[in-house]
Amino acid sequence: MATTTGAPDTVAEATGATNTTASAKAAQPAAIELAASAAPGAAPSVAPPSPAATLRTGLGIDVHAFAPAEAHRRLVLGGVDIPYERGLAGHSDADALAHAIADALLGAARLGDIGKLFPDTDPTFKDADSLVLLAQACQAVRGAGFDILDIDSVICCQEPKLSPHRDAMRRNIARAASLDVDNVGIKATTTERLGFEGRSEGISAYATCLLQRKDA
Ligand code: MG
Repeated sequence: MATTTGAPDTVAEATGATNTTASAKAAQPAAIELAASAAPGAAPSVAPPSPAATLRTGLGIDVHAFAPAEAHRRLVLGGVDIPYERGLAGHSDADALAHAIADALLGAARLGDIGKLFPDTDPTFKDADSLVLLAQACQAVRGAGFDILDIDSVICCQEPKLSPHRDAMRRNIARAASLDVDNVGIKATTTERLGFEGRSEGISAYATCLLQRKDA
């Protein structure tokens, strides 16, 4: 029993040894199975494959460097034109957030990535509106038999301040993905002046999503 101070009375309590016997017993079948499979000549114990899950998660990451001010590039994130002295360099409008979200969705549907769908060597996508590319990626995901349930994302950026633009970005992404705005999360963070984002050399964006098979 522990004292009222919370300090253990015995070494056994301090180490959790009073529970060791029970947990050791519970672990026995698994231990025996492992030992059997490790025995020379024994067939490994492998669980039968489970049916394909109906839910899928996706992860997308994108990075763009800032172009020099003389390049007069726009800074576009989540389809919002953000007032700043420099824009991001890229073949399209360099909307890192839209690209990260598209990659998360395509990854979850096992459709490759944004570079496969929209190669940056294709002049069609020069200065392309990335919300249009995102909408096309969503169409491909739905065409592959998935409902898009939810998206969350983070933009890492030392400057400019993005929070005033968050709701506009959410509305844009929701419209492009044909989702309720409540199912689009966008957060922004600095990196405490660390790394390329912290030195304002570029911006990174991370996104996750949840899909469900339509026939589930
Ligand atoms: Mg990109």
